[in-house]
Amino acid sequence: MNRKPERIRELLAHAESHLVQHGVPNARRNAEWMLCHTLGCSMLELYVESTSQVDAERLDAYWQRIERRAGREPLQYILGSTEFMSLPFAVRPGVFVPRPDTEILVEQAERVLRGLPLHRALSVLDLCCGSGIIGVSLAQRVANATVVSIDVSADATALTSYNAHKNDVSARVRVVCADAFEFLKLPSTFTAIVCNPPYIETGELAGLPREVREHEPMLALDGGRDGLDFYRRVIPLLFGHLAPGGVVMFEIGDTQGAAVIALLREAGFVDGSVTPDLSGRDRVVTAYRERADG
Ligand code: GLN
Repeated sequence: MNRKPERIRELLAHAESHLVQHGVPNARRNAEWMLCHTLGCSMLELYVESTSQVDAERLDAYWQRIERRAGREPLQYILGSTEFMSLPFAVRPGVFVPRPDTEILVEQAERVLRGLPLHRALSVLDLCCGSGIIGVSLAQRVANATVVSIDVSADATALTSYNAHKNDVSARVRVVCADAFEFLKLPSTFTAIVCNPPYIETGELAGLPREVREHEPMLALDGGRDGLDFYRRVIPLLFGHLAPGGVVMFEIGDTQGAAVIALLREAGFVDGSVTPDLSGRDRVVTAYRERADG
């Protein structure tokens, strides 16, 4: 492309205004993050070195990233990584981008696992594992937990294996590329089943930000007409896969708590409860195979 070398300060201003023209939210920060990534430096260094020139080669690499972002590709796909539960995770196009909301599910799962009156190793099934964040961060935080992470997407399971390795828990995270409904035909029991399924109502997909609607896998988002298709199909299959005292935890859309608890109750689960996220919206449903005192 042969751009003229430019100083960091002016380059950031150009990139920011280009992103603003394309309607990118948080344009300044996006421009800064992509420049840190391109130069391999920290945010602080960008400012300390604001009058340094960026050479032509790195300028080209930077503008390629800026153009991808202007096309509304998620920033995490461009940077190739994100943080979840303060752990580093690789992120790749084709696999659902981790959301901070899902940390609520991991925190709840950790709390429940630590409180279970079981004097044996804990086993966790992470259904629809995507980039692997739930199972990998649980394995990282609960040292006596072993995890089976499954997803129907081979891109997702390859990324989960990579992330398990990156976070030093690959010895305790078994990754399986399989359809959840086929996998659940096989006998296996777990202390906990955790799952962030697709739960967006089909009719709402068109109203999602371009980043999500044009770049993320719909398979991870589309929950059917009322958003509950996956829960409806999978919940009746779970009871027999839980050890006595076992627990199931789902991420949910903020209006779905009562419906998901009702489905769990019909399938024999008890003590269903909803946990809100940091903005006060219902985000996680927890239910048990039998009462804690029973
Ligand atoms: N919380 C996600 C979003 O709003 C949806 C996640 C899902 O369907 N599992 O994009």
